[in-house]
Amino acid sequence: MRLDKFLSNAGIGSRKEVSKMIRNGRVKVEGAVVNKPNHHVSYDSHVDLDDERVILEEYIYLMLNKPEGVISSTEEGPTQTVMELIDHPQIDELFPVGRLDKDTTGLLLITNDGKFSHALLSPRSRVGKTYKVTLRDDVTDADIAALEAGIPLKDFTSSPAVAKRTGSRKVSLTIYEGKFHQVKRMFSYLGNEVTALKRTRFGNLPLDESLEPGESRYLTTAEVKKLM
Ligand code: URA
Repeated sequence: MRLDKFLSNAGIGSRKEVSKMIRNGRVKVEGAVVNKPNHHVSYDSHVDLDDERVILEEYIYLMLNKPEGVISSTEEGPTQTVMELIDHPQIDELFPVGRLDKDTTGLLLITNDGKFSHALLSPRSRVGKTYKVTLRDDVTDADIAALEAGIPLKDFTSSPAVAKRTGSRKVSLTIYEGKFHQVKRMFSYLGNEVTALKRTRFGNLPLDESLEPGESRYLTTAEVKKLM
């Protein structure tokens, strides 16, 4: 990639700003001053600005606490998207790992790593997704047993879920697929209705509850490893 892109993607400044820094001789590549913004570099190039190393991570992994009312899309439109909540210099490369419904809240991963996303979403990998489900009507022992046995839906039967009643109308539910409206459809089959849905865990990774709705942060290396 071009040197100016490397620097702006690393969050140093706009393309115009970093081009000026380059022309002013403030930038070195592999220890030598480079004056051309279009100089070719790669992720592992040694780039220094004012003799301080600039690191550009190739892969980005973020956790967003998704608020209600935004859609899990990368396409801009009349409804606000999760991407519009993220302030990142490489925003154009990023995408959500799967989707949450507009009215669902909680843990959504955002990355530019297609393999990572694919591995987590592949039905074969059977990554558990845990939801805090709030329901219109009371949940019965028979409902819990049915969720744990598997619910026959139009296009598939859900694999045995882990279901725990946490209140008369509240369930903590872990499912191992990620089909469209899956949790809502599972409860609808049981004659109930989901009134609030929050994802609290993706695989081994819990939602960082210190994130306010709409806030995001980088995953730590340990958290990324936990998911891989
Ligand atoms: N199941 C749903 O019904 N909706 C979601 O957003 C996630 C899981």
